[in-house]
Amino acid sequence: MTAGVPDPAGPDAAPTPAAPAVAARYFDGLSSRPWRVGLRLRGDAAEFDGEASRSCPLHQLRLSERSRHAVRRVTFPDGAYLEIDDNAAFERLLGASGQRDSWVVRLQQSWRGALLALGACVLALLAGYQYLLPLAAGAIAAALPPAVERRLGDGVLAVLDARMFAPSQLPAARRRALQASFAALAPPRPGVPPWQLQFRASRIGPNAFALPSGDIVLTDQMVELLDDEAALMGVLAHELGHLHQRHLMRRVIQGAALTATTSLLLGDVSSVLAALPALALDAKYSRDAEREADDYAAAMLRRNGIGLEHLAAVFAKLEQAAADAPAHAAAAPPGADYLSSHPSSAERIARLRAAGRR
Ligand SMILES: [Zn+2]
Repeated sequence: MTAGVPDPAGPDAAPTPAAPAVAARYFDGLSSRPWRVGLRLRGDAAEFDGEASRSCPLHQLRLSERSRHAVRRVTFPDGAYLEIDDNAAFERLLGASGQRDSWVVRLQQSWRGALLALGACVLALLAGYQYLLPLAAGAIAAALPPAVERRLGDGVLAVLDARMFAPSQLPAARRRALQASFAALAPPRPGVPPWQLQFRASRIGPNAFALPSGDIVLTDQMVELLDDEAALMGVLAHELGHLHQRHLMRRVIQGAALTATTSLLLGDVSSVLAALPALALDAKYSRDAEREADDYAAAMLRRNGIGLEHLAAVFAKLEQAAADAPAHAAAAPPGADYLSSHPSSAERIARLRAAGRR
């Protein structure tokens, strides 16, 4: 075939018995020299000629997978190979020979297939995130040495003390009385985590939250707002429920999955500590976590003969307080456990009332 010179038979002439050879380079596996050849099919064999020539049964050849940019390669049993220069002609040759790419390759090729595969990956990841990660986080949190949790909690409290807390203004006798009352309550289940109350005056208004160290922080504003010891016991029991289930640690581990976990397992708390104060204050626990803590609190109050209406009143009072002082509520960090109640206060109150009737 001579480039530039019109074929005397013209393009519409009867088809030639053999399709045009496919341009390729042959590497014999002995030297790096490419040999320019033309590849054809003859029966069940591939053969090429040009600067080199060779013939080989098709079933002995290995064909590289087709991908958008890679050069296709045909490998001989002895390791010698062809690199195809004219992919389109090669595809036609394959088509004529009845050779079909495996469905995997064709799937990789089509963007629809790629989207499907991507969708399947995303679904698998979501399922992992939804089901496996919480399980793993729970197991990891339970396996953490107490010293790690202690150091994390202490560190967080130190940061919060420096930034937004002031020493409690409550009379020492009142603080001691609250501590003693809560300590006197029987827990709903065995395995009570170690806890201690920390009273603070705060710029975040009425609030309470629990740190991995076992510190349950109660703000003066919460004590003043509720002004009801039974209700405060309910609040503390709810926080003890969070501690019992290690909700904050699980959330930290889930949120920062790999980094946090490796750091924590290696006993390095610094990287996690940097992120934790914000997380502790923005402890927007999952609906399930809040329900678990509410259930724990309800069981504890019942066990000690305290009416659940006291805890139900907490949510109503907090909602009222937030409505009365919208500016203050807006300034508060979102979700410091009680302020942005999630599930809604109404839902929690309804659940507690239902539990109270049982
Ligand atoms: Zn909570």
